[in-house]
Amino acid sequence: MVITVLLRVRAFRTEYGSLSGAASARRLLMPARETEAIILKTFPLGEADRLVSFFGRSSGRVRGVAAGARRLKNRYGSTLEILSHVQIWYVEKETRDLVRIQQAELLESFHKAQSDYGLSTGLAVISEISELILPEHEVSEPMFRLLLLAAREVERTADWHLPLSYFAFWTVRLGGWLPRFDRCVTCGAPFDSKPAFYDAHQSGLFCENCRRAGMKPLHAEARSLAERFAGERLDRMTLERCIETGAGELREAGLSWIEHHLERRLKTRELLETT
Ligand SMILES: [Zn+2]
Repeated sequence: MVITVLLRVRAFRTEYGSLSGAASARRLLMPARETEAIILKTFPLGEADRLVSFFGRSSGRVRGVAAGARRLKNRYGSTLEILSHVQIWYVEKETRDLVRIQQAELLESFHKAQSDYGLSTGLAVISEISELILPEHEVSEPMFRLLLLAAREVERTADWHLPLSYFAFWTVRLGGWLPRFDRCVTCGAPFDSKPAFYDAHQSGLFCENCRRAGMKPLHAEARSLAERFAGERLDRMTLERCIETGAGELREAGLSWIEHHLERRLKTRELLETT
């Protein structure tokens, strides 16, 4: 016990100690920052801590350490669950990439979605995409609102299918990678009511004549759903049940374009087929 206390005192001194150096003085004066945030991912770090990746409304994507977060009794509770909407306080350090998380308070719980295997798979796909797509320290209000809306809708409707379609579509749109939905990228022929085709190797939509082997169809219903997604908020849309096929096609196309842009497969994508 005495040893622990001594070690703590020493650690404290090392961190906050001598004011003689300018660097120490700066570190001491470094104010805590605060932002509304969405937790993207957490990893165990050592025996007691967690490495946390969060997307802050006013900070962009940031990685930090939550000390003691793996202890049974810890002050973070369920705030560090995937896609939790929180208020977070942290301190930046000049010499390290990781910030030190001081405190997190839950603003909004997505407990139902987080604790259900099927629903949490949907959240995991949203989290993986955000983690890979969002540049570090870059603020994006549209992406913040999109993430929050998608998580809320998974929780509210207890279904990830439509929220994930909407999220994938808007991620592609906000990224500027959305192809033309009305005509073939190669020959320019209008699709009209005919199916268009796509895969993860190209960014465009192709007509029946220009399609390549292995491409999947994006039918007219899916393309008109995309138009509705572009103009309406997901939580205000009333959709007929028959929209499911179109929503599924649009989701698959969106995920493929995201993979094309990232030049890698999404690890969580195949889990969707098992839920
Ligand atoms: Zn064509």
